[in-house]
Amino acid sequence: MRQSQAFIPTTKEVPAEADIVSHQLLLRAGFIRQTASGIYSFLPLGKKVLQHVETVIREELDALGANEMLMPALQPAELWHQTGRWHAFGSELMRLNDRHDRSFALGATHEEVITSLIKDELNSYKKLPITMYQIQTKYRDEKRPRFGLLRGREFIMKDAYSFHDSYESLDEAYELMYQAYSRIFSRLGLNFRAVIADSGAMGGKDTHEFMALSDVGEDVIAFSDTSSYAANIEMAPTVDSYQESEKKMLPLNKLATPNQKTMQEVADFIGHPLEQGLKTLLFKIDQSFVLVLTRGDHEVNDVKLKNLYQASTVELASEAEAIELLGAGFGSLGPIQSVKGIEIVADYAVKYVRNTTCGANEEGYHYVNVNPGRDFDVTQYADIRFVTEGDPSPDGKGNLQFARGIEIGQVFKLGTFYAEKLDANFLNEQGKAMTLIMGCYGIGVSRTLAAIVEQYHDEKGIVWPKQVTPFQVHLLVMNSKKEEQNELADNLYQLLQSKGITVLYDDRSERAGVKFADSDLIGIPVRITVGKRANDGYVECKLRENGEQSELYHTEVIDYIHNAFE
Ligand code: ATP
Ligand code: MG
Repeated sequence: MRQSQAFIPTTKEVPAEADIVSHQLLLRAGFIRQTASGIYSFLPLGKKVLQHVETVIREELDALGANEMLMPALQPAELWHQTGRWHAFGSELMRLNDRHDRSFALGATHEEVITSLIKDELNSYKKLPITMYQIQTKYRDEKRPRFGLLRGREFIMKDAYSFHDSYESLDEAYELMYQAYSRIFSRLGLNFRAVIADSGAMGGKDTHEFMALSDVGEDVIAFSDTSSYAANIEMAPTVDSYQESEKKMLPLNKLATPNQKTMQEVADFIGHPLEQGLKTLLFKIDQSFVLVLTRGDHEVNDVKLKNLYQASTVELASEAEAIELLGAGFGSLGPIQSVKGIEIVADYAVKYVRNTTCGANEEGYHYVNVNPGRDFDVTQYADIRFVTEGDPSPDGKGNLQFARGIEIGQVFKLGTFYAEKLDANFLNEQGKAMTLIMGCYGIGVSRTLAAIVEQYHDEKGIVWPKQVTPFQVHLLVMNSKKEEQNELADNLYQLLQSKGITVLYDDRSERAGVKFADSDLIGIPVRITVGKRANDGYVECKLRENGEQSELYHTEVIDYIHNAFE
């Protein structure tokens, strides 16, 4: 492509709305433009990279025997009513009405559509297992669309769905898809990890998320420093390795603690470490209030709470609710003499605290020398806190470390949730009607593109990995007014293309400095500059990755490029 004819609007300024590198660079290098919050156009370069990411995905899924198809974005509300997700998906689901006032959703995902489609076609075990996939635009009215392509309201997803007559068959497909995902993300050059993830409320069991490691990631991965164990921190269980205290229980005492609100303030006031305190939070789990206790230095993990109660919603109660129910605001809550009938759930670590401190359910007062069992009863002890760095790894090998990750994909054993709701059955070998068993598998295609830029850039711009670069070679002519430079560059342009090499040819009448800066910003792996030595047939070749330069005679260029792309 001749750059003089290309639409590549590069800019020097860092756009004010972009606060992470991938967003800044994709805007500055002319790959994307924002149309509205969380909604983007892919400009020609962006579209090319997208296509390359999609090609890798297609190749790996086709190799599994998955069928590519395309489903509609516009989905009738009735389907979502049947699975209960018209309500459960909440305000993230984009909704609209047609001229006859019939309701539709803009597809946030396609379990409903695919299941209702195949239930009429897949009526026999003989046709199973089967996997379908599509690469398609999804809509989610995210609460906080941000970070450019990382969290959009309109984005591109690869979604796949597999159907089975047994759980063994689902397990096999899951394993194959897991391996295909590993190959896809490796081929895309990403530094990633597959982690154990939360299966949420949709009745599934096993699920893994694929995380591109990055400091801007919204997820925290807990992984063992000695084994391959890795989990989303939401899911990492704590190991009960607490020590029974040898200290004597001291008499309970109520103390005035004026203006001491936070755990740290109270601990400092009383003069003990944070972990000696007891944290009391009032939660609303589905419709019920529950008092949740952890050690002062631990944090409540609401995903674990949600799973413990098999609840659909878990949220902190408001301070007004705490005052009304318990008689005190957030800084003074505690489990002693709390309201009858309110359940108290405590983290395992709480069992081992001795002579701890907690709020007295009276503004400005705390109890000291509090001991669970003696001074209050706990309805149940459970693992309800986030693991902390240094905790023992759940697999018994080593200790946990943390890293941040961007969720680029997820594989999920759904089971029969959707098939049951949508009445999707098949006849087994004995002619008996059975419910279809399902798996689903997503990749955030546009998010993956941004994750690649997060991992591949330097201070000058993007540094595209070879597999996804929009072009293989950036050919620059330094002074397009010089006949000999033009001629050599034109010839090279023709030659490279005839060898099947993709070339962006900067034939614009811009200053050399502008061309170099744009070239670094755009980030194509190989740059070939035709300049002063064109007279003698020499050009300058440079690798974007490491800045390595060499002067080569023009006939050596093809070999140089082939080496670079080996
Ligand atoms: P998240 O937790 O980040 O909101 P999710 O778990 O809701 O994502 P899935 O339903 O698993 O997302 O969708 C499959 C994939 O689609 C995700 O792994 C992610 O890569 C991508 N994805 C999800 N939401 C967005 C979004 N708002 N913008 C871009 N990509 C997204
Ligand atoms: Mg997910």
